[in-house]
Amino acid sequence: MTATTIYEALKWASSFLENASREPKVAEILIKHELSMTQAQLISSLRENMASHTFRSYKAKIELHAQTGIPVQHLTGEETFFDRTFQVNADVLIPRPETEELVDHAIQTVKKKDWTDLTCVDVGTGSGIIAITLALELGDTVEKMYATDISDSALMIAKKNAGILNAPVDFFQGNFLSPLIDQGIKADILVSNPPYIDRGEIGQMADTVKNFDPELALFAENKGLLAYETILEQAKAILTEEAVILFEIGYQQGEAVTDIIHSTFSKSNVQVLKDINGKDRVVLAEVENTVRL
Ligand code: GLN
Repeated sequence: MTATTIYEALKWASSFLENASREPKVAEILIKHELSMTQAQLISSLRENMASHTFRSYKAKIELHAQTGIPVQHLTGEETFFDRTFQVNADVLIPRPETEELVDHAIQTVKKKDWTDLTCVDVGTGSGIIAITLALELGDTVEKMYATDISDSALMIAKKNAGILNAPVDFFQGNFLSPLIDQGIKADILVSNPPYIDRGEIGQMADTVKNFDPELALFAENKGLLAYETILEQAKAILTEEAVILFEIGYQQGEAVTDIIHSTFSKSNVQVLKDINGKDRVVLAEVENTVRL
């Protein structure tokens, strides 16, 4: 076989993926990973030959992605979130750009309120992206950052990420807020991207999602609302008197989640915020927790 330049490999992979109705951009992400190169290194090396064993391994991964829909993040083992690299695997939901918007709303809310010494909790942390990013971005404003997950294997990844990124987060295993209730912890800010997809929608979901992201992170009963119902019920026991809740939601769930919050906390101010694509994506609620348990 004649030598293949990096440029030729990239060109082959992009059109192969395009013909298979996959994202051509995956070609570039994978080649950088395969060659351990940054974007700048890739650009300046395009005319260089690729070692034949490297090309074979690259080609096999491109073909596997095209055929099965395995997410590129499962092939590289990482994803960028809020400019930081997080380790991911099949035990955690792959970070989505929509969740960066959730985190950004949380940061802006805290800054606007001029709060200090906050206690925050990320419920169903998965790879840890929300808790870790908030801990690092908010710095001293946050006194305590907690994160929970029911999945031990997800928590292993989250703890690994917190270690690599040097983020002060305390992780607990358990169902949504149960571990905080058990420990008698109170929180000022509750952030969560819980499972919110109704199983009935599985037919419309991409194979890259439905066959590879953990079911536990995707689906919820009661039309995808059960996680919100459970978390809010539990929140009565852990929220401070003046607290903020931020949820990522499915684009058709704004009204339903608003109703659940209003019926759980009678004194609450709820806003539904749109994502960059103009879809309802975040619920931001300021709540007065008058419940005394
Ligand atoms: N936003 C994800 C998706 O639609 C779902 C994650 C979730 O249910 N929290 O793929």
